[in-house]
Amino acid sequence: MQEPIYGIDLGTTNSCIAVMGEDGEPYVIENFEGYKTTPSVVYYDDMGNVLVGDEAKRLMGGDSEHTVAFIKREIGNPNYNRVIYGENITPLKISAMILKKVVADANDQRKAEGLEPINKAVITVPAYFGSTECEITRQAGEIAGLEVLKLIPEPTAAAISYGTKSLEGKTFMVYDLGGGTFDISIMRVNNGQLEELANDGDHHLGGVDWDIALADYAFQLCGLDVSFAEIQETIQAGRILLSAEQAKKMLSRSTETNMKFSYNRHPYTAKITRDAFENLMSDSVDQTILLMRRAIKNSKTPLQISDIDEIILVGGSSYMPMIRKAIEVEFPNAKITLDRLKPDQAVAEGAAIYASMPQEKTVQTVSPCAYGLGCYNQDKKVSSHLINRGDKYGTLNKDMFTTRNDNQTSVNLEIYSDRSYEAEVSVSRCKLLASKPLSWVKPVPKGSRIEVSFHLTSDGILKVYGECGGTKINFDLDVQGASQKEVEDAINDIQNKTIG
Ligand code: AMP
Repeated sequence: MQEPIYGIDLGTTNSCIAVMGEDGEPYVIENFEGYKTTPSVVYYDDMGNVLVGDEAKRLMGGDSEHTVAFIKREIGNPNYNRVIYGENITPLKISAMILKKVVADANDQRKAEGLEPINKAVITVPAYFGSTECEITRQAGEIAGLEVLKLIPEPTAAAISYGTKSLEGKTFMVYDLGGGTFDISIMRVNNGQLEELANDGDHHLGGVDWDIALADYAFQLCGLDVSFAEIQETIQAGRILLSAEQAKKMLSRSTETNMKFSYNRHPYTAKITRDAFENLMSDSVDQTILLMRRAIKNSKTPLQISDIDEIILVGGSSYMPMIRKAIEVEFPNAKITLDRLKPDQAVAEGAAIYASMPQEKTVQTVSPCAYGLGCYNQDKKVSSHLINRGDKYGTLNKDMFTTRNDNQTSVNLEIYSDRSYEAEVSVSRCKLLASKPLSWVKPVPKGSRIEVSFHLTSDGILKVYGECGGTKINFDLDVQGASQKEVEDAINDIQNKTIG
């Protein structure tokens, strides 16, 4: 039997770990607390130790100041800045702690069954994660002691778990609305090969936005002149959000519910109907529909709404009836499938199945970002795209640029990424990923050719090569994830802590 490899869904709200059983079926491994998913929440205690998971989520209710949740939304955000008990909190470190906890629990479980621990994993990432975010996720896995064999997009993993056999010959869309993020991917299965045609999503759209809106609505119904944003730093915020989440889940089953919460030590009850909740959230639901349309419009393989045969709903938030209703209106001819009974475990299971698949070639994905080189178009500095959004992973493209001045012996190569579908955009709309000088020996006249190649590997990692100056000068530039210092800090801080 092939060596077992974990499939891990490092989720915004919950994480989940699975492995293939000897019967050839994936199974999810329960955490220490006995649950199949682990809240992606980390709590810092005043002794310098951390709790990850259910207990951290419970403590968040009374102490949001020392709790970190929804960290996945911040991966790749250079401005994220939080300190707890004097320690710098980074998305890299928190993600590593979550991974460490789920893997340690799974290995303990295996040990109890007389099985060897596993240290290899396939980790899932949102389809819209760019090169930097993917690299940070990989680094977090390595800090947690894992050999990360591959990162695969979450919707792809969900589709694999759903079963590519039943999708043979179909064009389908995975609609994944989780706790903090929204992800869509349009795919097609041909002869068992899964090919992604387009993807889109929103880093900042998910169940928690429904919770916050519900909390605000409850304040209003109870005559409280306050908004959740105003109290979110306070101790009571976490508990109010949990009450809102409970009420939201209730409204997926009943047409009305009472949301009970306390504010400034007074108890309140807000009676909320599903209709009112749906009205309140119609813009957010519409936003997901707009992103579905945009993915269809921007697919490199021309597509129309009527080409989508099936829509698979995954992510806990797709349990909400308002989601299904809106999709049915937009896609009247598509079959809509709520992924079995466990949309929250499908991604980890799919990753475990993927890890056991013999050839990597069975999945083809497309880039959620465009990557370009900083250059001048007349006097305007632009990023000229060598990899376009929607290009397949594995694409290698070359382009020619020219030097601007006489006698140059170097140029600074600046690599940018952005989410646009255009061929070039102003650098002010892009993120600078890396910059490095490319130098040569003999001065060259103005207008000399510089050849630059971008290779987006099958892992979604960007590699850049440049050449100029008559002599062949190549250099490699791997787009970095977190800095070396950040990695070292994370390793140090994690080593000095008990993670429970
Ligand atoms: P995930 O990231 O896929 O685990 O999804 C977690 C999100 O799904 C959280 O925002 C939950 O509140 C939400 N969720 C889970 N179950 C339900 C439900 N029955 N109705 C509405 N939202 C739900």
